[in-house]
Amino acid sequence: MLNVRAAVIEAKDGPFVFRDVDVDEPRADEIVVRVVATGICQADAHVRSQGYASPLPLVLGHEGAGIVEHIGASVRSVVPGDRVVMSFPSCGYCDECLGGHPAYCVHNLQLSFGAARLDGTNAFHDVHGHFFGQSSFATYALARAARRAAMPLRAAAHHRSCRRCPTPPPHCARPRAASRASSHCP
Ligand SMILES: [Zn+2]
Ligand SMILES: [Zn+2]
Repeated sequence: MLNVRAAVIEAKDGPFVFRDVDVDEPRADEIVVRVVATGICQADAHVRSQGYASPLPLVLGHEGAGIVEHIGASVRSVVPGDRVVMSFPSCGYCDECLGGHPAYCVHNLQLSFGAARLDGTNAFHDVHGHFFGQSSFATYALARAARRAAMPLRAAAHHRSCRRCPTPPPHCARPRAASRASSHCP
């Protein structure tokens, strides 16, 4: 069991409340990232105001970066100590994902705003988590090690498109490249 310090939105338009939260250990395809930095943008604000009705209480945060602390048994893409940026979640097996366009994953909205894994489970105790597959408003984030979901910094540095807000249009107000070429990063 992990114990993290998280900024939790408990009610519509409520403040960020700093709480200790228990989180299950990572599954085989998941990693734990010690969060060093995270951004905040309109997608977080939309959920706080319940413009997007993700369940509350919830740990928001979808632009996290940090250092890999633990990895699941099947993870090969990163090792403990790697510096990573966490990007948008994708399922890895839909037609868009298999076609090399994970930004257009048909499960993107569910994985981003559903506040649970795709199988409906929630590793967070007493609060909802898994926001954008990371909930990075916390000292530690649980993320999948899938392609692009948690990208080593050395790779991300070569792919500027991966470093913008990961929210797919039209859910984020920040401009994004409309081209699908932006989803070809490793
Ligand atoms: Zn997919
Ligand atoms: Zn954003």
